[in-house]
Amino acid sequence: MAKKHDVIIVGMGLASLATAARLSELGVKDIGIYTTAYGGTPYIAAINFVLPDNPYGDTIGQYNDDMIHAGYGINNRTLVRDMTASTMEGYNLLCRWGVEFAKNEDGTTKLRHLSGHTYPRSLCCTTELIGVEIVKKLVDGLEENGIPIHMGYECLHVLTEDGHVCGITVKNPEGGIENIHAPVVVAGWGGVGNLFGVSTYPGDIKGNTLAIAKEAGAELVDIEFLEYEPMVVMSPPGAVGEPCPTAMLGEGAYLLNSEGERFMLKVRPQGEGGSPKTLINKQIWKEVDAGRGTPHGGAWVDLRHIDRNVLKAYPWFFNRLMDNGVDPNQELVEVGPMAHSFSGGIMVDENYESTVAGFYAVGEACGGVHGACRCAGNAASQATLSGLLCAQAIAGLKACQPEPVHDLPAEYKEDAGVYGRYVPEAKAIAVKALGIYRRGEDLLQARARLDEMLSQQEIKKDTQAFQIVKSIRLMVEAAWNRKESRGTHMRLDYPEADKEYEKEFPI
Ligand SMILES: Cc1cc2nc3c(=O)[nH]c(=O)nc-3n(C[C@H](O)[C@H](O)[C@H](O)COP(=O)(O)OP(=O)(O)OC[C@H]3O[C@@H](n4cnc5c(N)ncnc54)[C@H](O)[C@@H]3O)c2cc1C
Repeated sequence: MAKKHDVIIVGMGLASLATAARLSELGVKDIGIYTTAYGGTPYIAAINFVLPDNPYGDTIGQYNDDMIHAGYGINNRTLVRDMTASTMEGYNLLCRWGVEFAKNEDGTTKLRHLSGHTYPRSLCCTTELIGVEIVKKLVDGLEENGIPIHMGYECLHVLTEDGHVCGITVKNPEGGIENIHAPVVVAGWGGVGNLFGVSTYPGDIKGNTLAIAKEAGAELVDIEFLEYEPMVVMSPPGAVGEPCPTAMLGEGAYLLNSEGERFMLKVRPQGEGGSPKTLINKQIWKEVDAGRGTPHGGAWVDLRHIDRNVLKAYPWFFNRLMDNGVDPNQELVEVGPMAHSFSGGIMVDENYESTVAGFYAVGEACGGVHGACRCAGNAASQATLSGLLCAQAIAGLKACQPEPVHDLPAEYKEDAGVYGRYVPEAKAIAVKALGIYRRGEDLLQARARLDEMLSQQEIKKDTQAFQIVKSIRLMVEAAWNRKESRGTHMRLDYPEADKEYEKEFPI
């Protein structure tokens, strides 16, 4: 007898936890959370909300405009409007569930100034990552409310019948394959980090979920827009991969090229603080291309003049450097861009429902709200707000009870040899074709090779290999269709498209 729930949530990152928390508040109790691990959420350092007592005079309208600007104008305006208008509801939700944010000595909320924002509006924790605090408080709260988290369950397929979602197929912790039924399924399965050779993302964010959504019939949007985190530590080896928070630029840090020049000032005379991530990435790449990069192909971040107590208030970053023999008050730190979060995903409406009835998507799993790129700290805000708004839409449905569904086959195949023959090559293709600079010729070659792989009978012997290759194929197609350079997607072979686009959206 298959398990049944009123609502299934896939994943236990912030978006899933916020959805479950709000559903529980609204009286939906039979929620099944199925997840492989924790995703990107424990790494969250900053989360943005427009608080009414923001001393810089911040407004919801300005936040809305900052998102559209960072998104290079192609954001889904309805999603942005609803998200920014609900900012306090998201903040209050986290506070109700016990999340505590850092305060200043005078008791006001500590606010940091992150990339892409006009004003300081990022909340944080100064003793650990705020993501760790969020996971701790929400997981404990859900358990107290009788909502268990089924850890170690990997979603393999989303099941549909007559155009409506009806459940998921999972691999359980014992390795068994089973179907679990519900009339509502929420994808909170995060982004695509591990489709790329090296990324900031943990291993449970495999990226095959794009193909899972597509197989279920969901439309995808903006999936060419992978974001690069601009200031990821490149040396020493023990600290490689640790993002230097872009908030450091707001604290007074600056970027230097190998000639000691503050190159960001050429494009941002007002100073580095608040620069959009895409601008920082582009300027670092320009310096590297001009032969003014650092030994590992990045730039130096100068933190030497920053008060030690300020640096220590980013303990995960400060301690990682110190533990690896680099004192940021004494030495320059080598940083550069690395594949990071995903702006695209499952296309949703204002209720966060996809084009498949009953199938919802929240957080990094859904696309549209960020457009071509996001403001720093906004993945966390969007994860919270999309979860809240989605939960309110689901709780308003007349019936959440599962309808009887036919027993669908629980299908999944594994063949380690097949995986090894296809996946490493496909990921290498992703790195080359979907990297920093994109060329039509590379994209066409990538498309042809990926199609050849997908046409082999053999690849179907490993479902995950097929889904990973298919996900990369979907991103390559989207990148091929996007002719102009926008966000971090820098297209080299269509200068005429860039000229047209610059007229429409000057940056
Ligand atoms: C190093 C790092 C630093 C970051 N810093 C910030 C920051 O300071 N501010 C900010 O706003 N954003 C930051 N981000 C981005 C942010 O972490 C993510 O965008 C955010 O966590 C998205 O939340 P989510 O709930 O949508 O996805 P995630 O937190 O990634 O959670 C996805 C969940 O789905 C599960 N899952 C995935 N696939 C499956 C499957 N097939 N079956 C079952 N479960 C599955 C995962 O195990 C996980 O539980 C950072 C990311 C990283 C990696």
